[in-house]
Amino acid sequence: MSKFDDHPTVRQYREQSTIDDSTIASPLDADWLRSLCLELGADDVGFVEIDRPEIAAQRQDILVAFPPTKTLVSFVCRMNRENVRSSERSLANVEFHTTGDEVNQIAHEIVATLEQKGIRALNPAMGFPMEMDRFPGKIWVVSHKPVAVAAGLGHMGIHRNVIHPKFGNFILLGTILIEAEVTKYNKPIDYNPCLECKLCVVACPVGAIGGDGHFNFSACYTHNYREFLGGFTDWVEDIAESKSAHDYRQKVNDSESASMWQSLAFKSNYKAAYCVAACPAGEDVIGQFLRNKKGFVKEVVRPLQDKEETIYVVPGSDAQDYVARRFPHKKVKQVSNSLRPNSIQGFLSGLPLVFQRNQSVGLDVIYHFTFTGKEQCQATVIIKDKTIQVENSHIGTANIHISADSHTWLQFLAKEQNIVWALIRRKIRVRGSLRLLQAFGKCFP
Ligand code: SF4
Repeated sequence: MSKFDDHPTVRQYREQSTIDDSTIASPLDADWLRSLCLELGADDVGFVEIDRPEIAAQRQDILVAFPPTKTLVSFVCRMNRENVRSSERSLANVEFHTTGDEVNQIAHEIVATLEQKGIRALNPAMGFPMEMDRFPGKIWVVSHKPVAVAAGLGHMGIHRNVIHPKFGNFILLGTILIEAEVTKYNKPIDYNPCLECKLCVVACPVGAIGGDGHFNFSACYTHNYREFLGGFTDWVEDIAESKSAHDYRQKVNDSESASMWQSLAFKSNYKAAYCVAACPAGEDVIGQFLRNKKGFVKEVVRPLQDKEETIYVVPGSDAQDYVARRFPHKKVKQVSNSLRPNSIQGFLSGLPLVFQRNQSVGLDVIYHFTFTGKEQCQATVIIKDKTIQVENSHIGTANIHISADSHTWLQFLAKEQNIVWALIRRKIRVRGSLRLLQAFGKCFP
């Protein structure tokens, strides 16, 4: 017998394997799996097949993380409402983090139980940690929201959070990938629990949620996520650029430094998430709103609106104008959100996320881009009627044509390269009115 065959572990496995693969029922009984998830603490659960169209956009990434995936188990955990609603945001944050840990713990226990039964499974994080080497690209392994919607656990409201038909938006989402099929899969529910009451619209301090359904990602990311990712990077750059402690304190006050310490020492704290606090949707939630709508607004929404606080905005953004107009008692602080693309594809796909539609008023322009050098490609950006359309080729008749060396363009976006220098050196060339290039820049501050 070879040395390998004689190894105690190999011998033990072959002599008395505790797992008999042939006994694993396939497909798994959906009722049994559902009961297991609920027993281990989930508040609701649904199942989605790997080939469902609703998750087509992320299927490949899921299969990279766990190649044998056949089923996605989506589940929710309820959050306590009053903490999330309080204008004292430490109370909301402790609820977000406590429930988030619960989601991860429950997912861990479900996977451990399945593993003991010989069923391979994997639990991606509820939120963080994520794949930061891909930042500012797609850093998450699974996008939980589309999975939850496909699993019949709710629909996204106007505020882009999933609203469960019973628990409302006071939930956090988990997803487990398993190698087995199950006997029954779930379908999306046939109505959206969102009431379109627009309370999330009026509660948001940066105007990120438009009454018409538009979502300003950049506004939300810059303020609510100030102590995550890009906001943290901007803070580090504040330190790096400060000539002295006094100079640093001119940029970051003691409260902000202490807040950043708290986020680093405890867990990153959301600055707002007021849209979740204000939402009255869901069978368990709606009663208080229906009994007394004015009273609900006074008790839940008004304190968030009236709160005197610092709001973080990118200079020249729609959010800056919005806070000054709607919430003059809140203090505006101009910051960078450090959303710097590190590739031309990243630049193009990120444009709709950072587009500031109110800065584009009056524009009806077709921009043609030709990138040369390291990343060679063509693109068209159409800005019209306060909307943006990005195409990966030249379409239509351009009003302005911009040819740029891709590396120089990325340096220019990162404010590491002066555009005048680049124009003189012909690293960036413009055919058309420079005024249109300026107008383009204004839409993406
Ligand atoms: S607050 Fe109203 S409009 Fe906003 S998501 Fe909730 S139900 Fe929909």
